Amino acid sequence: MSHVFPRHCHSDLPTAVRGDGCFLVDAQGKRYFDGSGGAAVSCLGHSNARVASAIKDQVDRLAFAHTGFFTSDPAEELADLLIANAPGDLDRVYFVSGGSEAVESAIKLARQYYVEVGQPQRRHLIARRQSYHGNTLGALAAGGNEWRREQFSPLLVDVSHISPCYEYAERQPDETVEAYGARVADELEQEILRLGPDTVMAFMAEPVVGATLGAVPAVAGYFKRIREICDRYGVLLILDEVMCGMGRTGHLFACNADQVAPDILCIAKGLGAGYQPIGAMLSSRKIYDAIRDGSGFFQHGHTYLGHPVAAAAALAVVRELLDNDLPARVAERSADFAGMLHARFGQNPHVGDIRGRGFFWGIEFVADRDSKTPFDARLGLAGKLKKAAFAEGLVCYPMPGTRDGKSGDHVLLAPPFVASDDELAGAMDSLAR
Ligand code: PMP
Repeated sequence: MSHVFPRHCHSDLPTAVRGDGCFLVDAQGKRYFDGSGGAAVSCLGHSNARVASAIKDQVDRLAFAHTGFFTSDPAEELADLLIANAPGDLDRVYFVSGGSEAVESAIKLARQYYVEVGQPQRRHLIARRQSYHGNTLGALAAGGNEWRREQFSPLLVDVSHISPCYEYAERQPDETVEAYGARVADELEQEILRLGPDTVMAFMAEPVVGATLGAVPAVAGYFKRIREICDRYGVLLILDEVMCGMGRTGHLFACNADQVAPDILCIAKGLGAGYQPIGAMLSSRKIYDAIRDGSGFFQHGHTYLGHPVAAAAALAVVRELLDNDLPARVAERSADFAGMLHARFGQNPHVGDIRGRGFFWGIEFVADRDSKTPFDARLGLAGKLKKAAFAEGLVCYPMPGTRDGKSGDHVLLAPPFVASDDELAGAMDSLAR
């Protein structure tokens, strides 16, 4: 009997014993194509020799040194590399162990910034419905997914949620894409005014919505308008690229596509590419300087922040991404990826939408394509798809539709960037079956 506490208490999971490129192999020797990269984690696949060797070298040299006393070479080099490629004036990197920690850190940094600059009345966070920002209490409060929050709501801080930018479900037939983007962005201004402009500290969003909606990018112009509204009211812009960052959408940072730079940027998943648990929060100069020149102490921290082995792994990952121009390769192959999806699924009467960017795609399933009516939630379509695909040797990431009925069950595809066209075609064949 297993003594591991699994997430799904009634499932009998196969034992994964080996990773081989884009495949996972279980104890029976069955091979599974990693079609969602473990929720957009494994961007380099599973047996990258450069990353493995960087980890071994670092373990031999130095496994751990508490950051209350020391910095380390891999952490410094990784921070330099990220900053050299980061948008806007992001110029400090705070390392953590994963996505939720990056988001928690961002929320606390935003709050402390406003305390340091003498505006302690700024305490409200605004985020979006149908978003996912993590499972720790602050990150869960920021997320806009009601069923995840429900039972924990007595423990959560108050966060307001505005509409996501979800053109497929929300744009009116007589509305241009531009007008739609402006309308949903303007909800931010309305919410700031409702709460009182001098009480709002930050707005948080995923540039491409991942887990909750399945690879939904914002329409052109939306984030530019969001940035303008934030600037108008002194509200910090926090972008959560935990899932969509690190080359996944064809840019090292997803917000590059929107030509917008945040004040705080959260990354994780693809940063460690599954080789080590690591995340990071990139902070703009003004925020860092305010703390350095104020109390001089960020009132936050975790034991493993800046862990040398995790940093060495991530440094090798980022070098591998940049040396091989992988984000640009992903961008180049994006149209082919989309073409394959449309050819396989575009005519299916139960496919309502195919959307995404780079190597980050969602297929939305509906009972009726014309009215976009989702399947009845009691059918549990997402769960059935997951099981059937798994039996076919495909690991993908299905999610149920949202409760407001605006979004149907969907499958997220986020394969490793090193997947060949044949491997991608094979995965799509499995899903089609
Ligand atoms: N933010 C986003 C956008 C995510 O997709 C996730 C994880 N799916 C998180 C935060 C939380 O990351 P973690 O699971 O590493 O805590």
